[in-house]
Amino acid sequence: MKIMKRGLILLGWLLAGGSLSAAQPIVIAHRGASGYLPEHTLPAKALAIGFGVDFVEQDVVLTKDGVPIVSHDIEIDTVTDVATRFPGRARSNGRYYAIDFTWDELRQLRVHERVNAQTGEAVYPQRFPVGRSTFALHTLEEELQFVQGVNRSLGRNVGIYLELKAPLWHRAQGRDISVVVLEVLARYGYVTKDDPFFVQCFEFEEVKRLRDELGFRGRLVQLIGRYVEGEIHAQDAVAGRKDNTALLQPEGLAEVARYADGIGPALTALFDVKKGKPVKPSAVVKNAHALGLVVHPYTVRKDAQPKFAGTTERMLELLFREAGVDGVFADHPDVVLDYLQRASR
Ligand code: CA
Repeated sequence: MKIMKRGLILLGWLLAGGSLSAAQPIVIAHRGASGYLPEHTLPAKALAIGFGVDFVEQDVVLTKDGVPIVSHDIEIDTVTDVATRFPGRARSNGRYYAIDFTWDELRQLRVHERVNAQTGEAVYPQRFPVGRSTFALHTLEEELQFVQGVNRSLGRNVGIYLELKAPLWHRAQGRDISVVVLEVLARYGYVTKDDPFFVQCFEFEEVKRLRDELGFRGRLVQLIGRYVEGEIHAQDAVAGRKDNTALLQPEGLAEVARYADGIGPALTALFDVKKGKPVKPSAVVKNAHALGLVVHPYTVRKDAQPKFAGTTERMLELLFREAGVDGVFADHPDVVLDYLQRASR
C-alpha cells in the first residue's frame, strides 16, 4: 500500500512537470490574510506567510505618476481616508481614483478595513475594526521586497499571485499597466514558469495580449466571473460591470487554454446546485483539467459562505475532495491549511 501511494505521488510529480509542490493543492492568501487584518496591507501579508500559505495575492493599479501600487480597486475611497485628506478630488461620480493621485500623495493616506461605498459600514462586521491602529498603502516593489525579504529570513519560497486590474480602463487613462508591471516583475526575478509566481486577469483580450504581444513567459491565469471593470463610459471613466462566464463553457475553456495555464472561477461556478438535490461538481474542473488548465477558484471566507455549502468544512470538502481543484484563494487561509493538513493524513 505504501509503495503504491509512493508510486502515485511520483506519477503526480511527473504529471506536474517535475515540481513536487505543484501536485499538492496550493493555498493563496486572498489580499493577504484579509479575514483578519485590513486587505492588502503588509501586516496582512505577513500574517498569511506566518500561517504557511504557498502564495500571497497582489491586486495592482497605477498612480497618476505611473507607480504600480497594491490595491483591490481602481477607486481607493472604501479602504482609505482619501476623502478627508484630499476633499474635492473625487470624480463626477463621487469616487476617488488612485490614478488621480501621485504616489507621494497616496503614501500619506491611512488604510482601514473595507467599508461599503454607499453606507460607510464595514463590509465584514466581524473582522478587524474600521479605523483602528495604523496601516498604509504600499507600492508593488515594496511588496515584492517584503515577500522576498521574509522568504530569505524564514528560509521559505512563498510565491506571489498578481492580478492586473482593469488594463483596458488603464489604457483609456493613458497608462499601460501590463507593460509597467511586467518590467517590475522581471526586475525582481519573476519571468518564467519556473519562477514562483502567477499573473491573473479578468480581461481575456489582455490575457491574449500578454502572450501574443508582450511576450509574457510566466504562468498565466484567466479569471472568470462577474467583474467591475472593462467597459468605459466615454468621459467620466466610470468602470462598468462585465461578465465573462461564457469562458467556462467547453469552447471558452479551449480558447483560454491556448493562452493561459489555469483559470480562476468563482467557487459557486464549480457546482450544480438544484433545490432538494445534493450539490454536485459541475463539469468545469474536469473539462479544464482535460485541457491541462489548473483551477484556482475564489474565494473561501469563513464569514461569508455560499448557502449551498453550509459550513466552511463542507465547502472545502466540496472543493478539494469532490471537485478536485488545484488550489483556492482564501480570506482565512489558516482554515484551508488546517483542512488540507487533516485531509492528507
Ligand atoms: Ca484579486
